[in-house]
Amino acid sequence: MTELAFAPPAITTLPVVGEEAMFPVRRVYCIGRNYAAHAIEMGHDPDKEDPFFFQKNPNNLDTSGQFPYPPESSDVHHEAEMLVALKSGGTNISVESALTHVFGYGLSLDMTRRDLQGIQKKLGRPWEIGKAFERSAPCGPLHRVSEVGHPEHGALLLTVNGEVRQEADLNQMIWKVPEMISYLSTYFELAAGDVIMSGTPSGVAAVEKGDVMALTIDGLGRLEVKVT
Ligand code: MN
Repeated sequence: MTELAFAPPAITTLPVVGEEAMFPVRRVYCIGRNYAAHAIEMGHDPDKEDPFFFQKNPNNLDTSGQFPYPPESSDVHHEAEMLVALKSGGTNISVESALTHVFGYGLSLDMTRRDLQGIQKKLGRPWEIGKAFERSAPCGPLHRVSEVGHPEHGALLLTVNGEVRQEADLNQMIWKVPEMISYLSTYFELAAGDVIMSGTPSGVAAVEKGDVMALTIDGLGRLEVKVT
């Protein structure tokens, strides 16, 4: 066995509905501008863009139900997204075979320091400071494919303190789940434990301490997260 200089950090795991065994997370890919109305609200033309991805860190995923307001920002936005979890991977995966790699689906929030992201965009710099901060991806338990199938449509709804902020249907995704997996696998070697946050519809907006965000997607339950 390899001798370690100090105790290794704990791996991030996600609960699986109805099971004791946890899903171990390897990588976190996030797609940008995957709903036309959100691309437009952010000032882009959705018809002219190839998909693009950024990453969060595995240990940014958080299932505590609490989101501590992060430092160095005064404009932190919610982005409600379906999370796709992989049980296997590879390179150059075809669109046709992509769904055979999916373990299950869940609810997630791509919390974003929008003010910092905006500065990075202007400067042509990477987005990590806006996207990959501590506990920036609140999420819920995973639902196995054997339980929920592959959700291609269904209502996505995010409320804050009971008021509707984001409302859309999964069928409005520009790049569908099989296409995202296939595209990513041409650039990266995907593997079991990778998760993909599948993009947010329009209606992203700021949260304040004390707010309660509640996300539902048909068939995937409800995720409630308090901003603390
Ligand atoms: Mn997002």
